[in-house]
Amino acid sequence: MKMTQLQLKIFSEFRCIGGSCPESCCERWGDINWYEDEIERIKNHDCSPELKELINKSFTQKPDGNYTIREVNGRCPFLDERNFCRIQLEMGHENLSFTCQSYPRRNTYNNGIVMERLACSCVGVLDMLFNDRDAAKLVMKEMHKDLEKASVAESSKNFVDNPELKYRNEIFKLLYDVIYDDSYSAETGVVLGALAVQKISQFAENGQAERIPEVIKAIKPQLRNKAQIETLERVQPNYSLKYALVEDILSEYINLNELYYKDNSSGVEKYAEGSKKFAEVFAGREYAMRNLFLNLLMDINMPSFSKSYTLYENYCYYVFCASAFKYFAAVTGFSGGNIEESFKKIVALISRHYCHNENTIARVLAKMKQLNCTSPAYLASLIK
Ligand code: SF4
Repeated sequence: MKMTQLQLKIFSEFRCIGGSCPESCCERWGDINWYEDEIERIKNHDCSPELKELINKSFTQKPDGNYTIREVNGRCPFLDERNFCRIQLEMGHENLSFTCQSYPRRNTYNNGIVMERLACSCVGVLDMLFNDRDAAKLVMKEMHKDLEKASVAESSKNFVDNPELKYRNEIFKLLYDVIYDDSYSAETGVVLGALAVQKISQFAENGQAERIPEVIKAIKPQLRNKAQIETLERVQPNYSLKYALVEDILSEYINLNELYYKDNSSGVEKYAEGSKKFAEVFAGREYAMRNLFLNLLMDINMPSFSKSYTLYENYCYYVFCASAFKYFAAVTGFSGGNIEESFKKIVALISRHYCHNENTIARVLAKMKQLNCTSPAYLASLIK
């Protein structure tokens, strides 16, 4: 079968910024996977007595049988004082675990296409998204053989329970195109995506997944409707919804009071003022948020982050994550200091929970349903 790699332009350009990274992936991660054979390999490798001792005491077994690194004061114990990895320095990159070697790159295989993704939790990736207008351009390449083996295959077995995923590539491309279009705002693009997925999801839920290609064809011209786009551009943000949803979910993972001065009584004014300051910092780089949304679309594997939920529920989760980024654009704008650096750090930090942890979707969707805010109209006021 002919294979194609699908990736954003920056995928092949990405280089880790290493010791100068302000939110290193080797800090505050909490659970970095290592397999038994990978640990055996470094245990049997020549190295300094100090590193040997560290290796012997730093791994712990998890209930699933795999191993994880025991962090010390929120840092990987193998990080030295310059934030360089001791294993890499003494044994070379090839002796790191698969997780450490591949991060922030991941890939998924579906129907002849290997989707290669970069994590929003990497500050180096965010740096490229925010400073290269073309960072999120889609690139298609002929498949390199080795990658075929490394890809997480979406096998035909999955299609029995989720027949709509046979059309994962087609749905992704529709969403990508609609958000990429810069003739309207990125936020309007995200809402147009919600309208499209809602329709596609209805067919899948009614046992008509086979009709998805024809539904996509019918939807495309509807998404170009000028009056609809103008209406969406005029939607105003719903601040109380943002507070109720984004803060409630985030406070589970991070201490918001540590991040910024919080005073809910004047939250609306702060949000508006913070958004304005953020926009000033990114003046001339209005593409930055759109690039972030497009990278997120890939990072959380849209249109299906979790197979336990419908396509539309998955997309609601995507909108929630994008809204959280927008929310923190305002928060960092209001907080002052180096707004861009603070924003990159917080996006990297929350993405660890949103994009690498399938359990988060259950909590987010439960809260969204409780607040009754999963309609495209509500999603519009959430993302604005
Ligand atoms: S977060 Fe990204 S840039 Fe920073 S150390 Fe990790 S891979 Fe490198």
